[in-house]
Amino acid sequence: MKKLYIIVILFFIVMVSCKMKVKKEIDSAGEKANDVIVNSEYSEIEPTKPEETEFYEPVVPVVGPATNGKIPSDAIILFDGSNLDGWISAKDSTAAKWHLNPNGSMTVNDKTGNIQTKQNFGSMQLHIEWNSPVEVQREGQNRANSGVFLNGMYEVQVLDNNDNDTYVNGQVASIYKQHVPLAMASVPSGEWNSYDIIYHAPEFNAEGAKIKSGTLTVLHNGVLVQDHVEIKGTTPYIGWPKNPAHGKGPLILQDHRDNSRVSYRNIWIREL
Ligand code: MG
Repeated sequence: MKKLYIIVILFFIVMVSCKMKVKKEIDSAGEKANDVIVNSEYSEIEPTKPEETEFYEPVVPVVGPATNGKIPSDAIILFDGSNLDGWISAKDSTAAKWHLNPNGSMTVNDKTGNIQTKQNFGSMQLHIEWNSPVEVQREGQNRANSGVFLNGMYEVQVLDNNDNDTYVNGQVASIYKQHVPLAMASVPSGEWNSYDIIYHAPEFNAEGAKIKSGTLTVLHNGVLVQDHVEIKGTTPYIGWPKNPAHGKGPLILQDHRDNSRVSYRNIWIREL
């Protein structure tokens, strides 16, 4: 009897740890009591009918897919190679002075400064392609250095890292000086790389204090290199991350001011 008592107690401990409990339910005849398991997390009695766990709302929007080089049907095109109309100088808001190329790309115009979108964005899915020159110049951080700044302040590093070592939290596809990439997935210099980035903006309270960190997920040429990492703040060359309160901001592309000759093409976003 004592043994049976211990077994019953152990059974209930297991059920509680599984967030479940046993409930007596009278069958349709109103006589026989059956033991049924209740999942307290969902307040549902098992077993259910299939329809009880199937939902029809919210209705999912139909989006044309980004296959075979196409752009999703709900994407905002930031650069398609035809002009620089959507971009301005980050320094003085004058027209962007980067080179527009006949092949549908644009190239950093050395020492003319960063460029940014006219439009501001918050959380987004971003697609952007870039390449570094075939003829390499210099080394380390001075070889085809550029960068993609989400919200105008969080840099995903662009760098020619082929046979070019540098500090790993500043190498290609790093969140600059915050997160080392999970892999180095660059194509040969001169070929086109792609970044697909999921950015969730941080949140701030009315007093300007950060109450929720932003996150970044990055695929470099289809390879996961940043897996939902926490943005610790701004990504400066000198100093620690800062956390100024902000709302939406522009997408910024970097002129590293060392004749990087990095080119970009096919830039689009989907707002999240
Ligand atoms: Mg950079």
